[in-house]
Amino acid sequence: AEVLLELEDLRTHFFLKEGVVRSVDGVSLTVPAGKTVCVVGESGCGKSVTARSILGLVDPPGRVVDGKIWWRRTADPERRDRRGRGVPADQNGDGRIDLSTLGPRSDTLRDIRGNDIAMVFQEPMASMSPMYTVAQHIVEAIRLHRRVSRSQAREEAVELLRRVGIPRPEVRLDAYPFQMSGGMCQRVMIAIALACNPRLLIADEPTTALDVTTQARILELLRRLQADNGMAMLFITHDLGVVAEIADEVVVMYLGTVVEQGPVDDIFHRPRHPYTKALLASIPAMGRGSRQRMASIRGQVPHPLNRPSGCPFHPRCDSAIPGLCDVKDPAFVTVDSTRVRCVLHDPESMASANAGASGG
Ligand code: SF4
Ligand code: MG
Repeated sequence: AEVLLELEDLRTHFFLKEGVVRSVDGVSLTVPAGKTVCVVGESGCGKSVTARSILGLVDPPGRVVDGKIWWRRTADPERRDRRGRGVPADQNGDGRIDLSTLGPRSDTLRDIRGNDIAMVFQEPMASMSPMYTVAQHIVEAIRLHRRVSRSQAREEAVELLRRVGIPRPEVRLDAYPFQMSGGMCQRVMIAIALACNPRLLIADEPTTALDVTTQARILELLRRLQADNGMAMLFITHDLGVVAEIADEVVVMYLGTVVEQGPVDDIFHRPRHPYTKALLASIPAMGRGSRQRMASIRGQVPHPLNRPSGCPFHPRCDSAIPGLCDVKDPAFVTVDSTRVRCVLHDPESMASANAGASGG
């Protein structure tokens, strides 16, 4: 499939008094049209900052310091921004635009945000204003990007609520966020996200705050919507159970970097990176009636200001090779259809390690 979004060595750093936190430190990934790419990792690994960087939603003292965020635009001569002006199709004539070059207040970025790329977050309630009804939220979202009358937007809103599985949408339209459950609020947020038919939905832990049953229903909804619209998703989660449900491709992050990426089947059945293996081993055993406590990966995620030298995972890695892993930052190696960043999979590094061990 055509690549919609491509991150090329993205780096987003936070400049604190205490030092520089390299939250995202060289992330490359692609999202093909119509596919779901899951970014998975423990909290603090930089997955949310990666997502927010795409849409220029990183607040100071954080900023994108390096890398490219290539977005493939649709050339739609009919399209008008909210001031009625035609929207530029691309920057370089190749149909792509580097979002990292646009300022946060750029009209082009504002146009892309909502029209082309929509986002849903973990806390649906916090994303809505308690002062406005569901109708006001959705009508506003529609009219921000398209020139339609209020009554027409309201009709579209009813249809959108129906699509996201909200019963009696005509009545729900006049509800306030606090009158709805978390699951209903998240459906409304998804309806808002869908209002402009985005080609990419970025979902940052959209089901994490919900109970297990509601979580399953929302995932089911997202899958169905995706099948209907052919929309792509960049799905951020710490939960490998969710990844198994929804991903086509998986990107495993650790300490601001990607350690392994590949098709979901390979990641689950043939994981190569010791961190991916440890994450998989920490999934609670299924089918035992009670939810088991997750086994956790030994050691702690290092403090962000105190990154380890060499491979970022070496202090917690059972396979670490002293004198190599603590010194050398591993390069990416392609193994079958996955990319993995670990010396164990890099013949060159292993050859030099063996040579070192045998005294040569
Ligand atoms: Fe473990 Fe070394 Fe591989 Fe890092 S490079 S994951 S420390 S074996
Ligand atoms: Mg997060």
